Amino acid sequence: MMNYNELADLLFPNIDKAPDYYEELYPERNLKEGARVTRFAPSPTGFLHLGNLFTCSVAYKTAKASDGVFYVRVEDTDQKRKVEGAVEIMLEGLKTFGITAQEGVMIDGSQKGDYAPYIQSERKEIYQAYAKSLVKQGLAYPCFCSAEDLEELRVQQENEDTKGYYGKYAKCRNLSLDDIKENLSQGKTWTLRLKSPGDPDKKCFFDDMIKGKIEMPENLIDVVLLKTDGIPTYHFAHAIDDHLMHTTHVIRGDEWIASVPLHLQLFRCLGFKPVKYAHVAPLMKEENGNKRKLSKRKDPELAVTYYKQEGFPSEAVNEYMLTIMNSNFEDWRRVNKDADIDSFPFNLKKMSVSGALFDLVKLTDVSKNVISTMSAEKVFELSSQWAEEFCPSLKALYDKDIAYAIKVLNIDRGNKKPRKDIAKWSDIPDYISYMYDEAFKADYELTGNATPQLALEVLRLYKDIFDVNDDKDTWFGKIKDICEPVGCTPNVKEFKQNPDSYKGHVGDVSTIIRVALTGRTNTPDLFSITALLGTDIVNDRIEKAIKHYEEVK
Ligand code: GLU
Repeated sequence: MMNYNELADLLFPNIDKAPDYYEELYPERNLKEGARVTRFAPSPTGFLHLGNLFTCSVAYKTAKASDGVFYVRVEDTDQKRKVEGAVEIMLEGLKTFGITAQEGVMIDGSQKGDYAPYIQSERKEIYQAYAKSLVKQGLAYPCFCSAEDLEELRVQQENEDTKGYYGKYAKCRNLSLDDIKENLSQGKTWTLRLKSPGDPDKKCFFDDMIKGKIEMPENLIDVVLLKTDGIPTYHFAHAIDDHLMHTTHVIRGDEWIASVPLHLQLFRCLGFKPVKYAHVAPLMKEENGNKRKLSKRKDPELAVTYYKQEGFPSEAVNEYMLTIMNSNFEDWRRVNKDADIDSFPFNLKKMSVSGALFDLVKLTDVSKNVISTMSAEKVFELSSQWAEEFCPSLKALYDKDIAYAIKVLNIDRGNKKPRKDIAKWSDIPDYISYMYDEAFKADYELTGNATPQLALEVLRLYKDIFDVNDDKDTWFGKIKDICEPVGCTPNVKEFKQNPDSYKGHVGDVSTIIRVALTGRTNTPDLFSITALLGTDIVNDRIEKAIKHYEEVK
């Protein structure tokens, strides 16, 4: 009979703390009933993409909606793949989308909270204490198999349904203490493996908060818990950390779902109460009628930087993400127009099982809505920050006269039905171009009943009566007054009843003026535009339009 205590001391001579010590050091959290503790657990290997942001946002909202805790833990057990500065970039990225953790690793690299350290590479002794305890209970053992041994195993198992280190294939499972001592004295490196209690005839059942009830075979594999350098694998670290940090809901990408039987088995072997799992399916895209995963290679919109570059406000991305996270969000928003997005009662059960459909067109609509309700000052501030980085020409226009820029952005803002011209900051240069002479592009194409001949007559009259000091009613009165002398009617209804009696109606007259001043047939309020452009520019543009129509007529 193996003396497990002796084995444990042999493998971990320097570990003098038992799990009890840590259980006491990291007591239960003092939270109200139903509060959920969730976390974002990035590996510092890359950059934030929309999928990470989406999953993280689900975790954040789950904690928020229950007055719980959302914390950040850095999973840096794979030192080889570690990218310097990756965590800071990820946390900065999250912050732009309104996600900040109240506990764990902070943006400045500091750690905050009672369950520290929150960086796995600083928790080696903790993992080893639990590992030692598993060895003492005969639930883990050292494995001396080399890479070649494992390769050989792979070849042997070619026709085997269950592949991996288990049962009769687990060569080191039943080594005697003397064998182990011998291997150690030869200086052989070892990994620590779980002695899996899995039964091939038994199933593992669990209830995923998103995917529902799931049934899978029990785990049979003697997985590696500690690598040769004593650093844990993801599986082992997950069980210990989420237990000691009292995570209630592990919310993560669904690539981990196949590992749940192993994770639940680890919790059992370690004597922990299991956590609840919520596995988030990857974001999907519809293409030619088929749904597929968003792909790093094919879809620029998967990169979080895409939204920054295009100038989608983070509020809009958040708002849109919530519409595809929880199907009842849009209804809630209709009733709670001005409510803080964080007050939405987020519910994991309302998530898509197969993957939310991410649609840039829909995001664009949501963003137009969000921007239409912002103040001109806010639009200016956010778009000016964007322009500073991505559009120097817009920044230069803004800087000429900030007060003017804000007035331009304020046209039609605050109306009952605000216009929705801007979906992203990169739409602004075009949207405001005619408000600046250096950006204005004339286009004298007319629509409706307007002809070059009619335009000439209208513009000649308008030029003489236009006065920048007119109020809106007087200004519009003058436009109506132009109608009759040029053979139009100020009354649209009247025109519709007797279309043959008139050359056009007041709408056509306005269009002619609009086209001359802006080069477009559709703009926000023409009166505001005219007043802001001022006498000189209005006169100049009208004269140029007159010249144009004289030539083409
Ligand atoms: N570090 C893991 C990853 O980046 C986290 C998975 C989890 O949330 O448990 O995939």
